[in-house]
Amino acid sequence: MLLKGKGVSGGTAFGRAAVLCDEKEKLKKATAEFAKKTNSLIEGINNKKEAEIFECHIMLLSDPVFLTEVNEKIDAGRTAFQAVKEALDGLYGRFYYSENATLKSRAADITDIKARLLEILKETDFSGTVVVVKEITPSLIIKLKKSGAAAVVSENGSVLSHSALLARSMELPAVFAVENATKSVSEGEMLFVDGCSGTVSTSPAEIKNAPALPLQIIKERSGVKVLGNISSAEEAKRVAEYGGDGIGLFRTEFLFTENEPSEEEQLNIYSFAAKAMQGKETVIRTADFGGDKSFSCLKTDLRGIRFSLKNIPLFKSQLRAILRSAVLGNVKILLPFVSATKEVEQTKALFNACIAELEDGGLEYKKAPLGVMIETPSAALISDLLAKEADFFSIGTNDLAASVMAADRFGESPPELCSVFQPAVLKAVEITLKNANGIPVTVCGEAAADERFIDFLKERGVDALSVSPVLIPKTKGRL
Ligand code: PEP
Ligand code: MG
Repeated sequence: MLLKGKGVSGGTAFGRAAVLCDEKEKLKKATAEFAKKTNSLIEGINNKKEAEIFECHIMLLSDPVFLTEVNEKIDAGRTAFQAVKEALDGLYGRFYYSENATLKSRAADITDIKARLLEILKETDFSGTVVVVKEITPSLIIKLKKSGAAAVVSENGSVLSHSALLARSMELPAVFAVENATKSVSEGEMLFVDGCSGTVSTSPAEIKNAPALPLQIIKERSGVKVLGNISSAEEAKRVAEYGGDGIGLFRTEFLFTENEPSEEEQLNIYSFAAKAMQGKETVIRTADFGGDKSFSCLKTDLRGIRFSLKNIPLFKSQLRAILRSAVLGNVKILLPFVSATKEVEQTKALFNACIAELEDGGLEYKKAPLGVMIETPSAALISDLLAKEADFFSIGTNDLAASVMAADRFGESPPELCSVFQPAVLKAVEITLKNANGIPVTVCGEAAADERFIDFLKERGVDALSVSPVLIPKTKGRL
């Protein structure tokens, strides 16, 4: 079997296939399995009354009210495991605290059902597997990487999606847009994946070996710095290993995929990254939720700074954590998805309020430079005005290309439409570099590692390129 898709994250890998069905499908299969197991338990019981207890267990799981509640929780972003756990915990509470003695006595049955159903639903061990999914999401990439998956293959996904760039920065080989992947692959069969050519096969002979990326650190020959894009503190170490000149983009929204980290937890993470950089710049971008980055604990349609300015306590706790971590290194703050000078002014007011609070609390901090991402058409058009407000710019070509071309970065738009080589996008980049008027400009979208684009940027005086850690040596080589 040979499947073709888009190779979005390089590297070859092989492992047994773990085919993930969607969470509602998983729930359906698990309740059917629960009924099967419970029926065979009933067969071994002679006493009719005892058998009825277990029959009630099966009935409860097919109760439409219960199923609607669980499915609604899945729609809200919970996994089947989490949804079942929450729904049964709620039911347990209602039974346990009931005034009705019969209901109260049934609370123990809920505990029993929960234990047996969660055992069936328990999270799969992905270590060493090639995970095949219908729909890939950024939080699933993080989960798969953490659990040691060898590679990921999905039916959806584009090269510029956040799932793709996370896979690249985490060095997880990935092939997206493979039609019917979940139907074509059988659970447990051996798969060979080439994330460069976009090939998935059951035979290693069909995989063209991707050329290994040069790991040796190439000495810097130009005045342009090469920084790393990261999404977790551990990746800061990769930036150092690959010889990066600092961190150009810390995508902090990925710290919020499962829950909301406290100010102290964020402080630890940012401090770790700043220390790992040993005095080199560490640009921490405030959380850029929205788009394809809507996580179960933070669902929103508002992107970047727009969301932050509507959620002040969350925004301030992040700003305070960054200011406190700045004591330990060369930390800078970057604001995502800015489209008006007012957003920067409002952020500055909050920034000053945070400083006053830290002073009052006697907490150590350092005033960090404030940068603005240029990734909306409006930001590029008013970059002369934004340059007066900001200490530096970072051009996000992923969003800029899509928004200038009125294309869908995460959906069906033809890839050539979202390209930086569209004349309108090149013009937006050129205007920004000209309008920066002396403040440093970094380019941090995926195109920053594209050879032809590097030449264009270098000629126009870009100060730094920020790329996936694994691409740092190649980018330095090109410069
Ligand atoms: C960009 O838009 O180019 C960028 C770097 O930000 P993100 O990919 O996280 O949206
Ligand atoms: Mg962006």
